[in-house]
Amino acid sequence: MRVLIVEDEVALRDSLKGKLAEAGFTVDVAADGEEGLFAALEFPLDVAIVDLGLPKVSGLEVIRRVREQRKSYPILILTARDRWQDKVEGLQAGADDYVAKPFHFEEVLARVQALLRRSGGWASPELACGAVSLDTRAQTVKVNGAPVELTTFEYRILEHLMLRAGEVISKTELTERLYDEESERDSNVIEVLVGRLRRKLDPQDSVKPIETLRGRGYRFALARSSTA
Ligand code: CA
Repeated sequence: MRVLIVEDEVALRDSLKGKLAEAGFTVDVAADGEEGLFAALEFPLDVAIVDLGLPKVSGLEVIRRVREQRKSYPILILTARDRWQDKVEGLQAGADDYVAKPFHFEEVLARVQALLRRSGGWASPELACGAVSLDTRAQTVKVNGAPVELTTFEYRILEHLMLRAGEVISKTELTERLYDEESERDSNVIEVLVGRLRRKLDPQDSVKPIETLRGRGYRFALARSSTA
């Protein structure tokens, strides 16, 4: 999952970046509203965290312009003061949720994860599709109740596919979600990782959780056991 952080306070931005990366996110950062708006419109994001008080272009303006451009990924706002007006204006501009500063990182993480689940149509943090279940909080995966050990990248691919179970996800989209703007990308790596993921989830080749659609991408093929 790829997240953009738009925050002008260096220490806060760095701390969010480090902790979100540790939590398995691909992280892009912007230090003011202008950079933030560019990244928010140009990068293939799954979610954005936007501080309201920003230099150059305000957080509210960033959110309005993003929504005007029909970008629909969820946005979490950070409000500096505990002013109800800021929250209302932020939500009216098109944000989906807010956290008031100062906050504990765990609260931001929980809200971001909840926004991603809801935008994928999931109500609970446990994504269950047939024999495969994935816990987005613990970042654990089970097949028929038995734990499966995945690497960080394998987990990220599976989480992305399962959050959008039933949809076709292109190789380009997966690659863009796994690497930030500064990393070198290679979509052949995705094929290798998906192949490994398949063998780990389905060593007997009997469950067939991930379908390949030639020239189009991948689809998590098992039906959702629970939905929002
Ligand atoms: Ca600020």
